[in-house]
Amino acid sequence: MKMYSLLMCAGCGAPTPHVFAGRRPQAREHGELPFADCIHECQACGRERAWGNEPRVETALGRRLVAEELAHALDEHGMRRARCPSCDGRGLECQRCDDDGETWVFDTLDSCGATCPLAGLDNAVDE
Ligand SMILES: [Zn+2]
Ligand SMILES: [Zn+2]
Ligand SMILES: [Zn+2]
Repeated sequence: MKMYSLLMCAGCGAPTPHVFAGRRPQAREHGELPFADCIHECQACGRERAWGNEPRVETALGRRLVAEELAHALDEHGMRRARCPSCDGRGLECQRCDDDGETWVFDTLDSCGATCPLAGLDNAVDE
């Protein structure tokens, strides 16, 4: 069952039913908590708009990172998206990237202290 929200559409110039279409990371400054916009798509013309936002959650190397943990990973460990080395970006039946074609990589996973949220993670997951 799809959930519709009646939202103003800039394309239609009128309120139209919108359906949730996914989350898009917001631009952020160093040290800010990461948020994601909730993207909704107009069912009349297909135009997308942001409506609401929520703390950004990412799962990297099997660990769920949110808020301060994610900010720390992005700022201190150079966490970023890169082409998946297992499937070379094709994203076909690839377990490593979940068919995404992209995966998370880090500049360093050296623990920066006892409170580091990435402590215990290992970058070397090459099969
Ligand atoms: Zn529209
Ligand atoms: Zn892959
Ligand atoms: Zn750290």
